[in-house]
Parts: sequence; structure tokens; C-alpha cells
Amino acid sequence: AVQQRRPRVAVCMTPGIGHLIPIMELAKVLIDRHGFSVTIITLAFSASATQSSILSSLPSDHFSHISLPPVPLDDLPDDVRIETTMSEATVRSLPALRHALSALPDVVVFISDLFSTDTFSVASQLGLPHYLFFPTNLLALSLILHLPAIEAAATDHDHHLPDPLRLPGCFPIPRPDILHPIQDRSNDAYRWFVHHGRRYREAQGILVNSFDAIEPGAAAALCEAEPGRPPVYLVGPLTRKPEKSGDEEAECLRWLDRQPPRSVLYVSFGSGGTLPKAQLAELALGLEMSGQRFLWVVRSPSDGEENSEAFFTVQSKADPFRFLPNGFAERTQDVGLLIPSWAPQTAVLHHPATGGILSHCGWNSTLESVVAGVAMAAWPLFAEQRQNAVMLAAGAGIALLAKAGEGGLVPREEVARVVREMIEGEEGKAARRQVEVLREKALNNLKVGGAAEKALDDVVKEWKR
Ligand code: UDP
Repeated sequence: AVQQRRPRVAVCMTPGIGHLIPIMELAKVLIDRHGFSVTIITLAFSASATQSSILSSLPSDHFSHISLPPVPLDDLPDDVRIETTMSEATVRSLPALRHALSALPDVVVFISDLFSTDTFSVASQLGLPHYLFFPTNLLALSLILHLPAIEAAATDHDHHLPDPLRLPGCFPIPRPDILHPIQDRSNDAYRWFVHHGRRYREAQGILVNSFDAIEPGAAAALCEAEPGRPPVYLVGPLTRKPEKSGDEEAECLRWLDRQPPRSVLYVSFGSGGTLPKAQLAELALGLEMSGQRFLWVVRSPSDGEENSEAFFTVQSKADPFRFLPNGFAERTQDVGLLIPSWAPQTAVLHHPATGGILSHCGWNSTLESVVAGVAMAAWPLFAEQRQNAVMLAAGAGIALLAKAGEGGLVPREEVARVVREMIEGEEGKAARRQVEVLREKALNNLKVGGAAEKALDDVVKEWKR
């Protein structure tokens, strides 16, 4: 018998592990539950080994990957922000995208990610319905959707963002904590965000990797139909199952097996976060001072605030351990395990010995922590992480905040305080209670017939029409 061809979903995405991971989870559900085939189209300027290994994690029966040819970007200034690079690369890749999409059989719907909205033009030309996949939360989505209006209303050149920022249903965000790349109105990245905010409205629907219990006010506001704004579908939390890992990684799980329940703080700044040298040292000394157990994914410092090198490659160039204070590894060897660059994070979070995560508050890490029932110590670095931290600490109540002192440095005493509080203190206990409540709601959302499934069913119905 001739096998019926599956309708295909084409997804175009900008680089970044944090973008790829939830898109792959979405692809799995579309293939397994909804009978689609999925093709992910990536912009080529950044393929990393980690990205390739994640892309090859799906069997090729109904899944494929196209990497668009690299485009020249050397005319961009040296201090260009990553959001600008991604947006520019998208525009310059449109002819190649058009070519690739036209050659791809059976495509019924096109999905763009948060920085590749200019691809909507190509989808329109080809008569394809086009949707947006938004990999982070409703607070960030609401902000970007409102940004064109905020920009139009801005009168004060130096303070174009309101203080605090109040978005419908969202926890108010103090100005300094608002999405980092839009703080500087004169930077190209700001203009790109305003531009994307306009283009988001061209989508036929917006799929968001969040769920109502973690940001109920925003969910109520955005799930209500609004003229001129596409419907929002809450398809989250899309997170990876605890993964099987290689030998080196399995070693850290064996180490966890030997630690008491809920006693270890897992320290991770996501796929690309790095600390300045002085901060790296202060964190180390604070962990030591806390006397608590820790599992720390150590990356080489970058003395800029954002290290796009690490963002793209994941691997540190230099041996990260040599930046740690003298004797630190020896002094803490009974309570701490250091791993370079990359940990099997979901497996670590689900391990019974894990008692908390010190996190940069990237949205995938946040959702993974919630699903594993692990409370957070918030140490935001860049992108939307500071506003996430505010919402998770003051809004959802699942995070403790590490407070920076003078010069933006979190001193060792504060590190030690937060770590002790997390593992042994009352604040830690309260955050764990709260995360347990959210965990249950998240799991409810995900079960058969749950809200995430219903939301995706609704949007898929549109695609199959
Ligand atoms: N991750 C991992 N091991 C690491 C660091 C990160 O598996 O050592 C994964 C993590 O589980 C998450 C993703 O990489 O799924 C990072 O995404 P997130 O949104 O938290 O942060 P980003 O990397 O985008 O800043």
C-alpha cells in the first residue's frame, strides 16, 4: 500500500540552544501526536556541536533539518548585539529561504521564531499560513507586542521605558530590570525589537512556551481575543525529559547518587552565560563559605557582560578551572563537583539529591526547574533574564534573589547567604512549597487532555483545515 504523505510544518529559527530545545520538543509532539512531518530550517552562521547533536536527536522518519548557507555579516559593527546579528542574518537569508521552502514538498504551515519574523514575507509570497513560536514567557511577549506603542509614546529620550513597566496582567517590572537589549534606545537592537513587535501581529497565531499557573495574570490578558493581535496558544511547558548522557556527564550523576537528598545546589548559567573574572572568583568563595554541597558548571570568564562566543559554541575556549581561586577545588573537593561547560541538566534537576538551582533564569532552565520541582536562586545575566527573575521571585514566589552590591558584583557573603537560605533556610522552604504547587499544575497541563494539549489541538485544527 502507498503510505500517505504527511503534511509538513516548516520552522525557521535563529541560532541558540535555548531556541532550539523547545522547538525540538514541539516538533516531537507534532510528529508523534499530530501526524505531521517537521523540517527545521536554521541560519548557518553558528552551527555548534551541541546544536548539531540536539538536531540529530530526532529519528529521521518524519524529521529533517536544512541549514541555510552562511551570509556575510562582516559589515556589522564589532560591538553589534546578538539580536541585531540574528535579525540581519534573517533578512540576508530570505532568498535562500525562499528557495529552500519552494523546494520542500507538502508544507502546510510555516513557523518563525522570535527574531526571524522577516521570513513572514516569504511565507506570504508562497501563500503559506505563518505562525510565531515564542520560546520564552508571556511577560516578554507582552512587552515586545507593546513595544511599538511604548516607542510611539516615549517623549523623554533617556527614559523611553516606563518605570515601573506595567503590562496587562503582568507583575510590574522596575525599569532597570526590563529586557536588557531594549534599555539603550539608540542601539540597533532596540529598533529591531520594535520592528519584531510590529511583525508579531502579522502572525496568524502565536505559540508560547509557557502555562497559565506560572503567570496567571498575563495568561488571562493574552488568551483573551484582542482585535489586531493574533490569538495566543499556551503550549508549554515544553521541556526535555531527563536525558541519557555520555560517560563524563554520567559521572556527575553518580556523584549525586552519593549525596544526601535535597542537599546539593546545582549552579548553571544556561548554554551561554559567563561571569566576569572577579565575579567568578566571588561566586567560588561564596559557595565555599556557605559550607553547602554544590554541582557547578564552570565556564571561562568573559570580561564583557555577554559572551557571544560561548552563546554559539557552548564550549569554553580555555580550561575554565584555571580561573578559579587558588586552592578552591582542593578545599571544596568533599562537598563540590566542578564540571566544565555542560551538564545533563534535566537529569541533574530530577535527581533526588538536588536541592536547588542557582540559575541565570533562562526560560528553559526555569521551566525545567518547575517541572522537576526545584526552587531557584536567581542570578540573571542578560536578555530577558532580569525581568524573569523579578517575576519568579516577587510574582510566582519560586525564586530567591542574589543581590548585587556596588559595581554590580554579588559579594561572597551574599552568595553564601542565598545558598544557605536555599538549602537550609525558611525562604528556601517557602520557595520549594510554591514550586511544588506550580509543578503539579504544570504536570496537569501536560497530561492527556490537559491545557497544553488542548491549545495545540486548537492550532493544529487550523493547520489541517
Ligand atoms: N543546558 C544543559 N546543560 C548545561 C547548560 C544548559 O543541558 O550545562 C540546557 C538547559 O537544560 C536548557 C538550555 O540548555 O534547556 C538553556 O536554555 P535557557 O533558556 O535556560 O538559557 P539560554 O541558554 O537560552 O540562556
